[in-house]
Amino acid sequence: MPDRDIREALGLRPVINVSGTMTGLGASIVVPEAIDAMTGILPQFVEINDLQRKISPVIARLTGAEAGFVTASCSAGISLAVAGTMTGNDLAAIERLPDATGLKNEVIIQMGHVVSYGAPVDQAIRIAGGKPVLVGQATSAYRYHIEGAINERTAAAVYVVSHHVVQYGLVGLREFAEACHAKGVPVIVDAASEYDLKIFLEQGADIVLYSGHKFLGGPTSGIVAGEKTLVRNAFLQNLGIGRGMKVGKESMLGVMAALIAWETRDHQGIRDREAGYLNLWRDTLDGRPGIKPVIEADPTGNPLDRLRVSIDPQEAHITAWDLADALARGTPPIIVRDHEVEHNYFYLDPCNLHPGQETVVATRLAEELTKARSSNEIIATPLHERNTRRFAGLLRWPD
Ligand SMILES: *Cc1c(COP(=O)(O)O)cnc(C)c1O
Repeated sequence: MPDRDIREALGLRPVINVSGTMTGLGASIVVPEAIDAMTGILPQFVEINDLQRKISPVIARLTGAEAGFVTASCSAGISLAVAGTMTGNDLAAIERLPDATGLKNEVIIQMGHVVSYGAPVDQAIRIAGGKPVLVGQATSAYRYHIEGAINERTAAAVYVVSHHVVQYGLVGLREFAEACHAKGVPVIVDAASEYDLKIFLEQGADIVLYSGHKFLGGPTSGIVAGEKTLVRNAFLQNLGIGRGMKVGKESMLGVMAALIAWETRDHQGIRDREAGYLNLWRDTLDGRPGIKPVIEADPTGNPLDRLRVSIDPQEAHITAWDLADALARGTPPIIVRDHEVEHNYFYLDPCNLHPGQETVVATRLAEELTKARSSNEIIATPLHERNTRRFAGLLRWPD
């Protein structure tokens, strides 16, 4: 960490992030190689499309794609890739979007994949002028649903890989791609938060999208990789809807450096370090009344484990969400992974910690649990009040 914490000067709280890679907390810890590259390019001029030309083979090398480029985010990548399948290289059509008059614009997506990553997936399709065609039901889809939805207006199909999507009963990527390819429909895979940079293209994706700022530890950015013509047609959207999604030279160079650093990163060393954090937290929590800590594998198969902390409020004298809020209010603020907290558990994610913060997390957990246990009543804020408070705060911004 830098000697002087810039957050202090701004009056911002020095958050400890045990929730994972969250846009709302500043994504991830940017690797030093990316920071150096960004610093180096910032004062210089560069021909931007040539810079993207230099990045393309690096993206290709890491992903197995034919070509690639950098945009603002994975979400932007979805919009640009969809737009490219609609317009091809027709520059006039590119300028007309999101008006899709005269273009194929139906985009097939399994209903169980229509999730929110902070904004709705289907909105990323609609921004491009695409019309999402939801197939199957939330928890079941079969090949016939896909085949039955494809027609002469179909531009593309989108497949989402995420812990958010329904993890059972849906069509897997290989079969999804087979069904689409049999009718000439390109497959766009949102793999924003996945470690494996090659597997989705291997399994039949024509374009794959990653976030530059998640596991890669690059600056906020999105990586578009895939078949050359489709990638080029997505790239050309920079003359249209892509303008509002542009990235500067610093993000392009930063994410390229992060990709190169990824090739030589000590992945096993990081895993071992994270295992140490998880064991420390589990040992801290084990045996406390009403607390069950269990190490769990990542649901989409990323090489990452998390600690699931299940709480029996009767025994622990606090609900999982009240404990999460107590940790977030504390000094320093500790933000846990709480997207399933209504079931009275949250996760501790070890992948965005600076060394030493793991002991702060352990100490604060112990403090809050001891305090709750000695309370005479059970701390249980109605969950709907918590949500109401969250949205009320948002609607007051910037106050
Ligand atoms: C994070 C995420 C996104 C959004 O990625 P950004 O690069 O932040 O736009 C999209 N899809 C999935 C599955 C994600 O996890």
